[in-house]
Amino acid sequence: MEFFHKRKTFRPKKKFEPGTLRYSLHKQAQASLNSGINLRDAVKVPPGENLNDWIAVHVVDFFNRINLIYGTVTDYCTEETCPTMSGGPKYEYRWADGAEYKKPTALPAKKYVSLLMDWTEAQINNEDIFPIKMDVPFPKVFLPTCKKILTRLFRVFVHVYIHHFERLVLIGAEAHINMCYKHFYYFVTEFELVGQKELEPLAEMTSKICKGYTYPKR
Ligand SMILES: [Zn+2]
Repeated sequence: MEFFHKRKTFRPKKKFEPGTLRYSLHKQAQASLNSGINLRDAVKVPPGENLNDWIAVHVVDFFNRINLIYGTVTDYCTEETCPTMSGGPKYEYRWADGAEYKKPTALPAKKYVSLLMDWTEAQINNEDIFPIKMDVPFPKVFLPTCKKILTRLFRVFVHVYIHHFERLVLIGAEAHINMCYKHFYYFVTEFELVGQKELEPLAEMTSKICKGYTYPKR
């Protein structure tokens, strides 16, 4: 992926430790993607594997990939071009983390994404949420935290697609990013990890690139 290597990445990539289950699950997931398997099938939990492990691996992978995607437009996403974290005139996201930003606060997109990535990284590195050892069970907060991470990461797709799409086309990254988006979309809808309302800003595009797919109703 040339367009990723040309410029500095937004931040260092989070890696799985070789020899761990999650490392092998990560490799397994990569291999099935590379084999050209249908993305809708690729997101399903492999037989005998644990759903939480499967979700943990994907949350980290999507974090890394969405980081790289934002990295391709970061120089073009400034306080002047994007004074708020928006997705067109209809959608604007405000940042709140219960710490420095107690109330939802409108911020330039770059600042919002930076806080979002720092926050996500802190969640992923917190062993009380993402346990590393196999004998440590996943805590109750694991799934709600993953939902929150993925919901927030989705907003980066919204912003990049709506405000920086021309840049993606210019550097030839469009097909790759569409592929990553489809994978993300199939994954979060398969396990109902992002609410349908959150997915709305990209609904039109989704209906074009994820053909015949509707949100699963249970
Ligand atoms: Zn921007």
